[in-house]
Amino acid sequence: MYPWLTQTVAQLTHLIAEQQLGHALLLKGIDGLGKRELGYHIANALLCQHTKGRASDKVTDKSVPCGHCHSCQLVTAGSHPDLHLIRTDQRSISVDTIRQLTQVLSDSAQLGHGKVAVIEQAEKMTEAAANALLKTLEEPAGQSSILLISSQPERLLPTIHSRCQPWLIPVPDPNLVLNWLTEQGVATASAATNITALNVNQGSPLNTRDYLSEGIDKRRRELLQQCAQLRREPQLLNAVHSGLLAHSVHIVWLQLLLQDALQLSLGLSTAHLRLVDSEAVCRDMSQLGAAKLTRILDELMQWRRCLQPTVGRPVNAGLQLTQWLTNIT
Ligand SMILES: [Zn+2]
Repeated sequence: MYPWLTQTVAQLTHLIAEQQLGHALLLKGIDGLGKRELGYHIANALLCQHTKGRASDKVTDKSVPCGHCHSCQLVTAGSHPDLHLIRTDQRSISVDTIRQLTQVLSDSAQLGHGKVAVIEQAEKMTEAAANALLKTLEEPAGQSSILLISSQPERLLPTIHSRCQPWLIPVPDPNLVLNWLTEQGVATASAATNITALNVNQGSPLNTRDYLSEGIDKRRRELLQQCAQLRREPQLLNAVHSGLLAHSVHIVWLQLLLQDALQLSLGLSTAHLRLVDSEAVCRDMSQLGAAKLTRILDELMQWRRCLQPTVGRPVNAGLQLTQWLTNIT
């Protein structure tokens, strides 16, 4: 288990051992914290034949789940008949998927240790799907447990929230993550680059690992450099436009650039810059002045909200971005 989840695992497995964990749990936190691995670990602990009633044994993440009982072996092999996973690359989780799940959960457990359902990206449930789950969340059949996992819990219906025990996975301490990135062999020799990478990934350890190992940092520097140059070199407009639309996180990069530029234009210290390794680019952008930066940041954030995944990209997103970019050309 990831080092930043050790304490959470210990707390949750302790509750399982004491039989105090609610039958519906909502694991929430930003992307790239390992919520999926945590959810599977908890599901495994719930199904383990040796879990319950072990609170007095000073349960640790090593002892729960035990890892060697029949149930644990089946979970490891991915063939436990009482573990049901809902995971999709589609845009939504349909009502039919949830109806099938609730049907399966209403049957008795095959191994007699309850049933567990894990629903990843639970916010993808359509309204009808969420409504179909409500009754099961309220009155689970037999010993069913349902683990909902979400990095956008604000998109879940209030009725789902009210029936689940919420568990927030915090963003870990940056030093812990930086040490872990070094252990993983992906940290660079530059501390400023590593901290900036963590900042542009909003503190997410797994996203920062992928970002560094896939060389995305180079792309970020290049794109932000072009953004700052756009004022003087309007011929960069197409490159900036397509670069920003290529991935939703690129807009986050731009937002950080503008925020840092605003700080500098207000004469604030460089100690709080998020793009620690890009002061020159931020300073260049700060030439737009505080009033203008404040206005275009506000507009950018409004536009970003329109690009939420479930809402879908508005057909005129490209046009809106072109209009916005005229602010800095
Ligand atoms: Zn076990």
